[in-house]
Amino acid sequence: MSKMAVDYQAINLGQGFPDFNTDFKLQELVTKAMADGFNQYPFMTGVPKLREVVGKKVEALYGHHYDIDTEVTITSGATEAIMSTVLACVGTGDEVIVLEPCYDCYLPAIKLAGSQAICVPMDPPTATRETFKVDWDRVKSKITEKTRLLIVNFPHNPTGAVLNADDLDALETIVQDTNIMILSDEVYEHIVFDGIAHSSVISRESLASRTFLVSSFGKTTHTTGWKIGYVCAPKEMTIELRKVHQFVVFTVPSPFQYALATYTEDPSTYMNLSDFYQNKRDRLAKGLEQTRFKVLHSPATFFMLADYSGISDISEANFSIWLTRKHGVTVIPVSAFYQQPDATNSNHHIVRFCFAKKETTLDAAIERLIKV
Ligand code: PMP
Repeated sequence: MSKMAVDYQAINLGQGFPDFNTDFKLQELVTKAMADGFNQYPFMTGVPKLREVVGKKVEALYGHHYDIDTEVTITSGATEAIMSTVLACVGTGDEVIVLEPCYDCYLPAIKLAGSQAICVPMDPPTATRETFKVDWDRVKSKITEKTRLLIVNFPHNPTGAVLNADDLDALETIVQDTNIMILSDEVYEHIVFDGIAHSSVISRESLASRTFLVSSFGKTTHTTGWKIGYVCAPKEMTIELRKVHQFVVFTVPSPFQYALATYTEDPSTYMNLSDFYQNKRDRLAKGLEQTRFKVLHSPATFFMLADYSGISDISEANFSIWLTRKHGVTVIPVSAFYQQPDATNSNHHIVRFCFAKKETTLDAAIERLIKV
């Protein structure tokens, strides 16, 4: 869709990346790290100061202590964290449960590992509930003796859904008598709206002991192109993860790691992010209310879903292509996040808008969308 946006000179509210720059202070810290000579291989596990900052942040926010030497690993973004985790955990004959719609790198990682993805659909929005929701009984019904890993991603891309305490209770119950591991992709942990705190999977001890917690500085510091992420996991699980990480990338760029370590020591660099994005969410929602799209509430992330059934009944993919070509605004079909994107069950007449954009970009897009 990003290529199509360029080809048709459309305003790109599709792919999830900011169209504004990162904090100048952070840019200066990278320059300083380079000037100070931090340009050679850092440790395979990541720069110690960055692992320390991550460990402190996670413990302060979610109450679980990780040993920074044996349980925190800096990765090449969340993508490598996910690939290395999956390759470390599963192989031929194993099953991995994923909740659909799901972020696009999970299924290829599972396939590459030779294992089988078991896709469990979330309940789509209804007239009375504007967000997608997990049906935990449905998840439980898919567990077999082959199930080795469960991948969850909240706050959720593409839907913006979040977990609450009841969801964590249900998750605890369904895994308690199993040896299933969890990969919890929490890259949007610092973008949760309306004063609600993020419910991290590792805030429950019984879950933390079986979870690979994955996050990314790309979302938190507006640096998606730097590809710096991390995994926190119990020692025995981290040992396995690092066996893969070592030979996938060995290590990730040192100047960025040093800069992010200093920058992230100040909690205001991530604690103010929700307010920053909430303003953008509200601006886009208000704008879309003037169009024929029906806005669905976005509780978190920098994505918003909108229902276009008042405009058309074509598939989500065809609608997204048409919107780019005809009206010059690019969105992402939610069906693209399903294993069978063309199936009727994967199409709910909903598309995803990314609001990690300048106000001028959002306003220009709204102006075009009003004409649809
Ligand atoms: N997980 C989710 C849910 C994401 O939305 C993204 C980025 N779009 C990633 C992982 C990948 O993050 P990174 O760029 O740090 O690899």
